[in-house]
Amino acid sequence: MSPKRIYNFNAGPAALPLSVLEEIQRDFLDFKGSGMSITEVSHRSKWFDDVINDAVARVKRLLKLDDRYQVMFLQGGASMQFCMIPMNFLADGRSADYVNTGTWSTKAIKEAKILGKKVNVVASSEDRNFAYIPKNIQFTPDATYVHITTNNTIKGTQWAEMPDTGKVPLVADMSSDIFSRPFDASRFGLIYAGAQKNMGPAGVCLVVARDDLLKLEPANLPTMLKYSTHAEKNSMFNTPPCFSVYTVQLVLKWLEETIGGLDSMARINQQKADLLYGYIDQSGFYKGTADADSRSRMNVTFRLPSEELEKKFVAEALKNDLGGLKGHRSVGGCRASIYNPTPLKAVEALVDFMKQFEKSNG
Ligand SMILES: *Cc1c(COP(=O)(O)O)cnc(C)c1O
Repeated sequence: MSPKRIYNFNAGPAALPLSVLEEIQRDFLDFKGSGMSITEVSHRSKWFDDVINDAVARVKRLLKLDDRYQVMFLQGGASMQFCMIPMNFLADGRSADYVNTGTWSTKAIKEAKILGKKVNVVASSEDRNFAYIPKNIQFTPDATYVHITTNNTIKGTQWAEMPDTGKVPLVADMSSDIFSRPFDASRFGLIYAGAQKNMGPAGVCLVVARDDLLKLEPANLPTMLKYSTHAEKNSMFNTPPCFSVYTVQLVLKWLEETIGGLDSMARINQQKADLLYGYIDQSGFYKGTADADSRSRMNVTFRLPSEELEKKFVAEALKNDLGGLKGHRSVGGCRASIYNPTPLKAVEALVDFMKQFEKSNG
């Protein structure tokens, strides 16, 4: 009997490709003839070396990174990057620009300020509860970097295009939209993404950093908090989260070999988002919370006419095998997270359910 699987719209940890889960299951007791599970082999073994090297190579190919970039798999989540970035890049009275587009940007700004770093919040969409991405921003020409959150997981907004920051490199939290679309990585000094949204399980954070920024590292940082420590040791200065890195590797392989890369992935993601927003827009019952030009293709946030109906909607959806539709506790409402692994047919099933629910409750 095949196991019961629901359509999973969780925001993170989130859905993984079924084929990847099946591959993990198949290889679990005897990884590549080792007679051990991947959770049992040494991180110094050839088996794990092959895994992490393949994962790094796939990241480089997918993002078209040149030799100036280092790829790292770190622990502490995206949240650890909020402090590591200013610690490593803002020594000697340097400053950075930050754009505040929601909960996660706010946290990134807070950590840089705790460290006493000079932070310019050059734009914010807080005036309308972060329902939009700010435009026409004046960046500081001598800032060391400009920090943005490319997709705002909780508020349901996303940068449609990356901002033009001139010569100043972008630093971006891409936790919830990494690998969802092609973009010009050469404009970025650092990219980071917790794996558990769009790329794998919890427990590992991808960091891609460029040499010129890595050179800014001050000498007096603790070893574990320096990027150079991890870059020089191929993320194996200490024991890496082997199982998480392995799962990320398989998801990246799926992305390259089954989906066909970021262009195809972006097309599928656009199709899913268009279907869901298209239905919400013509309905008088559901109402999107983000401005149309700032909408996320990953996290679709919407309200129903009352909180009571929202509760009922989430509960009845689950009875119909559609899970994870409750909005983040800080904003309420509903949210469908439709990351890379979520198939079009999951979104079709959701829209069918939304139609039925509107009919019987509208
Ligand atoms: C979930 C999330 C985070 C926090 O990630 P952790 O891995 O839990 O630290 C940070 N930024 C964004 C955009 C997120 O979606």
